[in-house]
Amino acid sequence: MEQNNEYIRLAADLQTDSIVDGPGLRAVLWTQGCAHHCKGCQNPQTWNFNGGGLVPIEMVYEAIDELEYQDGLTISGGDPMYQPEACLKIAKYAKSKGLNIWVYTGFTYEELVELSKKNAIYMEFFKVIDVLVDGKFILEERDLSLLFRGSRNQRLIDMSKTLKEHRVILFDEDRYNEIGEFERVPMYV
Ligand code: SF4
Repeated sequence: MEQNNEYIRLAADLQTDSIVDGPGLRAVLWTQGCAHHCKGCQNPQTWNFNGGGLVPIEMVYEAIDELEYQDGLTISGGDPMYQPEACLKIAKYAKSKGLNIWVYTGFTYEELVELSKKNAIYMEFFKVIDVLVDGKFILEERDLSLLFRGSRNQRLIDMSKTLKEHRVILFDEDRYNEIGEFERVPMYV
């Protein structure tokens, strides 16, 4: 995919009020373009790297400025990791506005670490992500009871702990499920 740092290719306008893409009420940025082609993918219209529309990053900033009552921003797709520069900028901007950041990717964390050896932007992106939901959607592993993910191979990775300890540390689902709804969101801000 072309990497124009002033633009991002999106599949849709910024969505608001999602309760299924991370904790609390969330805005969701649907990036366009994905080469993983998982069987059973719910968004195959986001696969085409020339589909959707090229949107100035400034317009995404303006949409973030207009958000009300959102606890976080989820960047999904498609796969945001095909547009790391643009997603990093947007994630940083959203974070500066007090939003926590969840990112969904079809790559595994380990694959992204390999990519980061050739392109340091991935490591920069890791640093602003609160939780990375990694791995392809595998139909045979599908489990509707899972928190914020579709198949058992996918992980909710706590990125700040993972980067600090240099090993994958998972998001504490037990704690998340134990505490009250209104106390959950500050866990990540
Ligand atoms: S990574 Fe996500 S968007 Fe891409 S094919 Fe798999 S499920 Fe669909």
